[in-house]
Amino acid sequence: MHEASLARAVVNTVMDALKDKGLKDQRVTSITLRIGDLAQVDLESLEFAFSFATLETELESCRLMFTSKDAVVRCMDCKRQSSYSTEYFYRCKVCGGPCELVSGKEFDVISLELESSGVQ
Ligand SMILES: [Zn+2]
Repeated sequence: MHEASLARAVVNTVMDALKDKGLKDQRVTSITLRIGDLAQVDLESLEFAFSFATLETELESCRLMFTSKDAVVRCMDCKRQSSYSTEYFYRCKVCGGPCELVSGKEFDVISLELESSGVQ
C-alpha cells in the first residue's frame, strides 16, 4: 500500500531530524505535512498507516496535520505560470507552448511540534 510506505518515510524523516538536533528522546505531539494536489495521497489511509508505524515509538499518538500545495505548471516558451488543469497540462493557454509541472507533487514534512517546544 502506497500510504504505508509514505507513513514509514515520515517516521524515518522525523526520527532523523530529532537525532540531528539531539532531541532523540523527545515526544513529538504533532507533525505537519505539505501534500501537493497531485500527490494522490489518501489522507485517511495515511493517518491509519501512520498510527501503526508509530506504535511504541516517540511518535506514538502524535497528530498529523496537513497543508496542501497548489499544482502549478510553467510554460517552457513564454515562462508564464498557471494553475494546473488537465485541459492545459501539455499546452500553455497563452502561447500554446509545452508546459512543465513546477509544483503539485510535494510530500514533505514541514514542521514538528515537541511536547516541550516547537522545532522547525
Ligand atoms: Zn506560453
